[in-house]
Amino acid sequence: MAETVLVIGAGIAGLNVALALAPTGRAITLLERDAPPPTGDAEQAFFDWNRRGVGHLRHSHAFLARLRTIIKDQHPKLLEQLLAAGCREIGFADMLPEALKASYAPLPGDRDMAVLTSRRTTLELVIRRYVEALPGVTIQSGVTVRNLILETLEEGQFRVVGVNGDLEGEAGEWRADLIIDAAGRNSPAPEQLAEAGAGVVEEAEDCGILYFTRHYRLLEGQGEPPRTKAPGTGDLGFIKYGLFPGDNRCFSITLAVPEIEMEIRQNIVRPEIFDRICALLPGIAPWTDPATAEPISKVFGMGDLRSRWRSFVTSDQRATLGFFAVGDSLIRTNPLYGRGCSFAAIEAQILGQVLRQVGEPSARARLYDMRVRDELTVYYDNMRSQDRAAVRRALQTRDPNHTPSLRGRLTQSFINDGVRIAVRSDIDLLRAAMRDFHMIDPPGAWLKRPANMAKVMGWWARGKRRNAELYPPPLGPDRRAMMAELGIEETAAAAQ
Ligand SMILES: Cc1cc2nc3c(=O)[nH]c(=O)nc-3n(C[C@H](O)[C@H](O)[C@H](O)COP(=O)(O)OP(=O)(O)OC[C@H]3O[C@@H](n4cnc5c(N)ncnc54)[C@H](O)[C@@H]3O)c2cc1C
Repeated sequence: MAETVLVIGAGIAGLNVALALAPTGRAITLLERDAPPPTGDAEQAFFDWNRRGVGHLRHSHAFLARLRTIIKDQHPKLLEQLLAAGCREIGFADMLPEALKASYAPLPGDRDMAVLTSRRTTLELVIRRYVEALPGVTIQSGVTVRNLILETLEEGQFRVVGVNGDLEGEAGEWRADLIIDAAGRNSPAPEQLAEAGAGVVEEAEDCGILYFTRHYRLLEGQGEPPRTKAPGTGDLGFIKYGLFPGDNRCFSITLAVPEIEMEIRQNIVRPEIFDRICALLPGIAPWTDPATAEPISKVFGMGDLRSRWRSFVTSDQRATLGFFAVGDSLIRTNPLYGRGCSFAAIEAQILGQVLRQVGEPSARARLYDMRVRDELTVYYDNMRSQDRAAVRRALQTRDPNHTPSLRGRLTQSFINDGVRIAVRSDIDLLRAAMRDFHMIDPPGAWLKRPANMAKVMGWWARGKRRNAELYPPPLGPDRRAMMAELGIEETAAAAQ
């Protein structure tokens, strides 16, 4: 008889587990604490779907090509439904800088190098409705899982055989052959396992930023502003910004602020300050201009952003049996890189493969742990080292007396005057770099290829004067000018 599967949580990871396992014929039940979506369309989901279990539901979301391709290859009808609901595909050709547009000749893989973007409520609504219609899948809403039901096999070794929880206030128990923890970053399961003495290995580190998002809608009769030389994403050191085109004439702007920028983070949740910042960023200003669009939400803020990797297999290969974690409960990453949902989907794919290949529970747990590491460690480590560099840079931006070292200046120049200019000027380099961005190739692999590095060095060696035409316009004011424009005073405590 086919195995039964209980999934705790019907967020992005839980839904991806269902997408990966439903075709294997297993009976899958997702237990979700929040209410189901309203019966209406994307608009109703955005304004009315109460999801206390997902604090980041109304922050900007985009799926990288890696995840879009999984959906396209394995559930093409789902991709059709997402597009029919208004989700947007922004492809390689749409992202080309002006200088490369005229000479662009498409290559076969270009079409698939696309992000899928929309309000997350729309993405989740459509995926959920698709999953609910899959044979063998049930989503039970209103169930808050409280505990795993553990069977002790020997000291420190457990098998998970079910969960306890409550359904609308009534205590209940659910049992299955496999228990998948997809309850997100605050899942209660890892703590329970650690307290019971099962091996839970965890490493974590602050991302060093806070996230602020506001949604807008284009006014009647207005189209999206044309792309200009000013990019829709950028990093000023003290603010990173991103524009996310969405479904049904909506779009959102996300501003990420380093944790140490106390004055900015205290003020940015005020809608007038948020909009003023947008008006000062040339890549964003034409979008949020009141003649073009109107806000449709408050400013959503989110802190406590951490990178965290958990493993449920110890160094002596002791594993909790019948239990797998997928999504943020297993690995959390900085949202800036837009990789969390791709991570969850890749883990769900790996889980599907492992369950197909191996039957013995302990071997399954170890193989899952190993394959996830093999696949995702390089991306995770790369994001963490970028986060540390960003934290250093944010500190330096605040310090008027900071003088960068020669090495620091060279590195910055290599990035700004070499790498960035090269990818803006050479379509093959841009293509290679975008494969990295989309998690198709490992991070930095394109720059390790000698031919690519030689080209980058060539652009760098030309020097700023000869490359002058290739630089984007200033992304926005410097920190001091921005603070003055916003009327924000630097407090003595924060200035130290
Ligand atoms: C601000 C922000 C922006 C982001 N932007 C992007 C992006 O652009 N692209 C991208 O790929 N990733 C992005 N991410 C990351 C991505 O959102 C997460 O990686 C992803 O949501 C993880 O999915 P999950 O299912 O593990 O967790 P969640 O999506 O949080 O879902 C967990 C689910 O479990 C349910 N649940 C929790 N506890 C219980 C319980 N005890 N019993 C029953 N149900 C329970 C919750 O209600 C919820 O439905 C972003 C993250 C943040 C914080």
